[in-house]
Amino acid sequence: MKREFLLVAEGLTKSFDGFKAIDNINFYLDRGELRTIIGPNGAGKSTFLDLITGRTRPDSGTITYRGNPITRLREYEIYRLGIGRKFQTPSIYAHHTVFENLLLGLKGPRGVFSSIFHRISSSEKNRIAEVLEIIGLTEKAHIPAGLLSHGQKQWLEIGMLLAQEAELLLLDEPAAGMSDEETEKTGNLLLTLAGGHTLIVIEHDMTFIRRLASRVTVLHQGRILCEGSFEHVQNDPRVQEVYLGRKHRAHNQPNS
Ligand code: ADP
Ligand code: MG
Repeated sequence: MKREFLLVAEGLTKSFDGFKAIDNINFYLDRGELRTIIGPNGAGKSTFLDLITGRTRPDSGTITYRGNPITRLREYEIYRLGIGRKFQTPSIYAHHTVFENLLLGLKGPRGVFSSIFHRISSSEKNRIAEVLEIIGLTEKAHIPAGLLSHGQKQWLEIGMLLAQEAELLLLDEPAAGMSDEETEKTGNLLLTLAGGHTLIVIEHDMTFIRRLASRVTVLHQGRILCEGSFEHVQNDPRVQEVYLGRKHRAHNQPNS
């Protein structure tokens, strides 16, 4: 039987003013997989997510989701197919409660403000309660989201993706700026979600990535440099060169 990937990108290329931010990428993601993408600044990680979500159009190549091409769809159409994106900076409604923010995820931006002051169905309430449990914010449900800690805001935003029933979660540096304890909780959350959801996680923190023990894709200059287990990637001399090369050279220079 032919293997069915949830997401496939083939020959994906995107240039900005002649500079290839994404250069002929082939990428295959299993349903339920948790994939981490690493790579130095400017490697093309965020652009890759932009291409998946339709925020940016590729110059060439295809992206298919559940076997259907999505390369030509608009951003909102891709979102409706169940592909949810979390940006580096949280975009929550600070003056609304945690509960209301999740309701926003559930209803979409247009439905929410009317529904806050009207009836919420019991199935909606149950779904929000479920999401609050998953993200560990049940006790914070009725405080303004602006009062949450940095880490809690990130979890709320992941919760909003869950409320909108996203199947594929694209998370850009979800643990950035977190305390060690929050980082560990985030790792646990992502591991809990994997299986039932499919995740692409961009991260820098190697301890965090090691703990996830997922398949790792290393991007460098818009290309996939290496792919495999954390250990495989860590032991690849090309990856070591990309991450450590400059440092080693600096150490070897007499004047540095
Ligand atoms: P990463 O997320 O891996 O740090 P990015 O995907 O943000 O890298 O950027 C990859 C390269 O593409 C960078 O050189 C960046 O300056 C360039 N780039 C990204 N988006 C745009 C854009 N909208 N316009 C012009 N250049 C861009
Ligand atoms: Mg980025």
